[in-house]
Amino acid sequence: MDSRGKKTAAAVLEEVAREVGQWLNVLFRGRRKTGHMDLEASEIMIRSAMHRVGAVGVTQLLQFPVPPAEQRTVPCFCGHTAHYQELHSKSVLTAVGPVEISRPYYLCPHCHNGRFPADVELDIENTELSPGVRRMQAAVGQETPFDHGRQQMKLLADLEVTTKSVERTAEAIGADIAQGERQEIGRAVQLDLPIILGKSVPILYVQMDGTGIPVVKKETLGRQGKTEGQPSHTREVKLGCVFTQTAWDKKGFPIRDPDSTTYTGAIETAEEFGKRLYVEAWKRGWSRAEKKVVMGDGAEWIWNLAEQHFPGAVQIVDLYHARQHLWDLARRLYPNNEAGQKAWMKLHQKRLLDKGKIEKLVAAIRSIHSTNSEVADKIRIEADYFDRNADRMCYPKFRKQRLFVGSGVIEAGCKTVIGSRLKKSGMFWTVRGANAIIALRCCHLNGRFEDYWEQRLAA
Ligand SMILES: [Zn+2]
Repeated sequence: MDSRGKKTAAAVLEEVAREVGQWLNVLFRGRRKTGHMDLEASEIMIRSAMHRVGAVGVTQLLQFPVPPAEQRTVPCFCGHTAHYQELHSKSVLTAVGPVEISRPYYLCPHCHNGRFPADVELDIENTELSPGVRRMQAAVGQETPFDHGRQQMKLLADLEVTTKSVERTAEAIGADIAQGERQEIGRAVQLDLPIILGKSVPILYVQMDGTGIPVVKKETLGRQGKTEGQPSHTREVKLGCVFTQTAWDKKGFPIRDPDSTTYTGAIETAEEFGKRLYVEAWKRGWSRAEKKVVMGDGAEWIWNLAEQHFPGAVQIVDLYHARQHLWDLARRLYPNNEAGQKAWMKLHQKRLLDKGKIEKLVAAIRSIHSTNSEVADKIRIEADYFDRNADRMCYPKFRKQRLFVGSGVIEAGCKTVIGSRLKKSGMFWTVRGANAIIALRCCHLNGRFEDYWEQRLAA
């Protein structure tokens, strides 16, 4: 900045000091009169004053001079040259409130496109929100409903924004993160991932699941719902997580490495999701893992993905999921008979499932006869489920290797990553909007937002 600019900044600082001094005078006089001071009103008032004078300062900083004669052209994207026209101003909302920027405008006589090089430099191209404000909007938008985010912006930062503005910014940033992920996934498909060097990982787990979120009507047109003949009002988010384990407790139970869980997910096909999860596992050291484990419920798409993207991994059906299947069956066999359900579970869960005696469990289930055709169907379906997944239910063997057999990590993830943000009542998502917020949220939760934000302009 030139010496004139510095003087201007100094003058603004003086003004700040004067304004705050005046505020304090008013406050002290009031306290002398009444013997009382409302601290909250005072602090909010002073913050607001600071913002106001701060905005004067920022506005001063953003008054760009007319470019000198030798700098009145800039290259245009079309290959020709854009020429300086005049100074243009626009309002920008910053962390200290609304400010005015005045900067040179260049026009290309060849393609008639106008340009503001200063906007590019300041990262306010095509937006009236400063990077600081956009970052706040992204932070609240990934965490809470957009309107609540708007309220938080007012309370915490004294900034007036619209609900729509929180939504637009959070979605735009999320979409940008998702776009970066797609490029990364593209490179993975080309087998062009950078080799990540580092210590080997003793045990690396990949776990996945699906969870439905409510969507707007157009996103379910022509799709089959869960109840036959009725359209579904939800779409499935596929969520994956990766975590590591290096230790176990005195009793030999595995301990998850603290803060080692990262998430990735989207509404997308199993094929797309498989590549996504592979890239996440790769980032977390899949190639350096001494032992690799894939966990999931019994859903077929999960094991297809496991075979395709994670060959050689130990496959485990989450014990809690398997128990859930048994409970479902128990309730069908002994409707309205809790004691009957419990007795049946004791026999089949504790003595067979938990002990990995799946062949016996399947035989036991198949030997049950029911005259009710629906119950008979359920018996057959569940017997097939256990039969098909028998090798993935060798729980005593897995326990001996000190592996998790039921982690609950992905269930917790479905709740905290997806449910608590995307399944609130009254929410209806577009697939595009949901995927943007999921990308943004995972980026935050994985502790990668700082890096993304730092690097966003380099791309
Ligand atoms: Zn041009």
